[in-house]
Amino acid sequence: MPGMKRNAIAAALLPLLLPGAPGVLAADFNACVKALRGEAAAQGITRRTFDEAMAGVEPDRSVLDAMDNQPEFTAPVWDYLAGLVDEQRIADGRARLAEWASVLADVERKFGVDGPTITAVWGVETDFGRSMGGRPLVRSLATVSCFGGRQRLFRGELIAALRILQDGDVAAGDLTGSWAGAFGQTQFMPTAFQKSAVDFDGDGRRDIVGSVPDALASTANFLMRAGWTDGQPWGYEVRLPANYSGPSGRRARQALAAWSRLGIRQADGTALAGSGLAALLLPAGADGPAFLVFGNFNALISYNASVSYALAIAHLADRLRGAGPFRTPWPTDDPGLSRAERREVQELLIARGFDVGEADGIIGARTRAAIKAFQASAGLPEDGRAGGKVLAALRASARNR
Ligand code: CA
Repeated sequence: MPGMKRNAIAAALLPLLLPGAPGVLAADFNACVKALRGEAAAQGITRRTFDEAMAGVEPDRSVLDAMDNQPEFTAPVWDYLAGLVDEQRIADGRARLAEWASVLADVERKFGVDGPTITAVWGVETDFGRSMGGRPLVRSLATVSCFGGRQRLFRGELIAALRILQDGDVAAGDLTGSWAGAFGQTQFMPTAFQKSAVDFDGDGRRDIVGSVPDALASTANFLMRAGWTDGQPWGYEVRLPANYSGPSGRRARQALAAWSRLGIRQADGTALAGSGLAALLLPAGADGPAFLVFGNFNALISYNASVSYALAIAHLADRLRGAGPFRTPWPTDDPGLSRAERREVQELLIARGFDVGEADGIIGARTRAAIKAFQASAGLPEDGRAGGKVLAALRASARNR
């Protein structure tokens, strides 16, 4: 979701949680839409574009529910990585790399971003276009343009979305996305679209929803503009000396020689390699996997302001290139689950009579409640988390029935 910090969005929407009578909401909305019409007109949106796009649009309170599920801020980092970089996504990504090889080669020539990195963004953002989000973008953005604490910011997004329609880049019926306004194969915010989207298949439209070449090239263009340097690594896993207590974090950047003096080596034991300043990231502390990251990692962060997110992209790209899993395990005895394993948890819960809805591999509020109920019945700590221990307990109880 380039162009917007997800935690900023959550904070912006908090005032919407306040109860309010629907009638008052509707009256406020109508007055707000009237003001938006004038604001849009001042920025070159025609009355026709505005009225067609806004016809029948009502505020969408369900954006509030969607706010609760932002995994990179709530789940342990190993859950996040296990779901985003699983065997299925690696296999799917390799198939997409082969399918789009010639387009990706052209994209790399033009924008200087490699195919595995672009494909990894595609896989993490929408599972290669399978889940682009079905909420009408204009409705979502009109809602947050009229309610909540960041209306000014979202009005810019709404007007950028209206410009997409006015320019004919994406058809109105295709302009759907996440509750916060990210859309398309690689989930651009509308203002990011206006800055970075390109027409790569040459049909005159920048269609990051319907055209994979447009989406892949637009993603590469975004990363290029964010400072991506072709041929440089994002970083790599490293090995720390015992009891490491030196600097870490994205801001503590040093030359490789300084990291070497602290006793840090590549994960396979060889000397540090690469050029430029590097930062040491310890996403789960000094007992978990450690990474030295370079400037390209910051370009990934600018796509979505989360270290876990950038690490998922970076690691998936490496796996698409044939690399293996991290050498250092996550410091937990209850590891994260792949999407296939999450579906298995749900299927086993269903078989035991717990209500999880559909076994779709997405651990939402219903699945978490069912896991808690199962944990209570099995005498396990009730944290509602879908992890390795819960899966093992469910498998064991299925065998014993
Ligand atoms: Ca196009």
